[in-house]
Amino acid sequence: MPTPVLTSVADFFGVLFNLLYPRVCLICSHKINDLNISPICGDCVDKIRGNPEASRIEGKTEDFAFDLALYAARYEEVMKKCICLFKYEGKTQLAGPLGKLMSDFAVRNIGAEEIDVIVPVPLHPVKLRERQFNQSELLAAHLARKMNKNMVRDKVRRIKYTAPQTELKRDQRLRNVRGAFLVRKNADFKEKTVLLVDDVLTTGATLHECAKALKDAGAKKVVALALARGN
Ligand SMILES: [Zn+2]
Repeated sequence: MPTPVLTSVADFFGVLFNLLYPRVCLICSHKINDLNISPICGDCVDKIRGNPEASRIEGKTEDFAFDLALYAARYEEVMKKCICLFKYEGKTQLAGPLGKLMSDFAVRNIGAEEIDVIVPVPLHPVKLRERQFNQSELLAAHLARKMNKNMVRDKVRRIKYTAPQTELKRDQRLRNVRGAFLVRKNADFKEKTVLLVDDVLTTGATLHECAKALKDAGAKKVVALALARGN
């Protein structure tokens, strides 16, 4: 049978590659022995607490512009470390396993047929220049591939440079991001259902503002999906 032979050849080179270039888990620094190409080990992946009940924030007109917000995991321990390495230390190889976590969640809990287009929450150009990549865009690109959808990445602009939100209370956060996003005039979101993607959801202020800009541009429905939910 040809398949097992091929697998064993692939395994052989995999083992050889691991011997030549031993890989260690980005989170716990233990050696990764399996043939999985993930930058984090299976033990660490198992420690990520998902959101199996698919708990959600329903948008009410007076509170949120999005119709629904979901998150794939809890922002704690391993996930916190992953996001920190991913965003602030440029470990973009984490987009693979983190994106997979989101796409598995999305396939289970959001009907792909309902979504017309995937939009990542944009970074301000100054921040993008500093960081060199938009973490939400890397996650959204993974989702777009898995859900077989188009990602629209340059039609929503972040026009307001905002201070970090972490220390702010909910009403301060809402004020901080008010008017932060603008949809380009040539964008076509009319009557579309948008899957809006962000890394961390805390109060929902950023997703609300971005969803508001999309709704103002004619979007019919905005479903927000974050990788993790913080407190
Ligand atoms: Zn590990």
